[in-house]
Amino acid sequence: MDYREARERVFETAIRLNKANLIRLSAGNISCRTADGNLAITPSGVQYEVMAPEDVVVIDLEGNILDAREGLKPSSEFHLHTRILERLEDVNAVIHTHSYYALTFAVLGRELPPVCLELLVTGGPIPVAPYARPGTAAVGDHAADLLQRRPELKGCLLKNHGMVAVGATLAKAFSHAWDIETGAQIYYQAIQIAEPDKIPPADVDFIRQKYNLVSDRSSG
Ligand code: 13P
Ligand code: ZN
Repeated sequence: MDYREARERVFETAIRLNKANLIRLSAGNISCRTADGNLAITPSGVQYEVMAPEDVVVIDLEGNILDAREGLKPSSEFHLHTRILERLEDVNAVIHTHSYYALTFAVLGRELPPVCLELLVTGGPIPVAPYARPGTAAVGDHAADLLQRRPELKGCLLKNHGMVAVGATLAKAFSHAWDIETGAQIYYQAIQIAEPDKIPPADVDFIRQKYNLVSDRSSG
């Protein structure tokens, strides 16, 4: 199997996320399904500024390395990616970030209420998955539990750790990660001034139906 295209797409998304300041140095990781049902995932500990498409590692859903450049390992958070992709059929791409505003609320264990469209189209309120030791399967299981229970969710916060966003494609997962981070920033700024109003509940259904937000992870 030729994994060049999947590697290229994961790499390009990593560079976009790095330019958008959502991932920095080697914090955060990105994956997508390959045509043969495995995963292309960013390598562990490689800074995005020096990463090349060939550095992206291919693993199976159990985490076994199928194809990797010598000396490179898959992201230490591969369980987060494999657990989500194993359990959620409508998801083909997973993005994990330590982005500033999402992480601020993740350390507080505070969900992001639907105060703006960014947080509504991503399924807000965006919940916080319970704390789990980084790199363990529990990180993935806690996030997958939330995402499975609420199909309208495009991502969630990870207690004391960061955020995970999902999508039917890498481009969708990117836009969901961007929306959650932007929504977190807006919410953070708003609460410095006063307690913001949520979008009226009657409009939540209207907006979700308009954008077909409940059916799969592709909208938004
Ligand atoms: P990796 O460099 O192993 O992907 O780890 C980054 C990270 O986000 C740890 O939680
Ligand atoms: Zn992390």
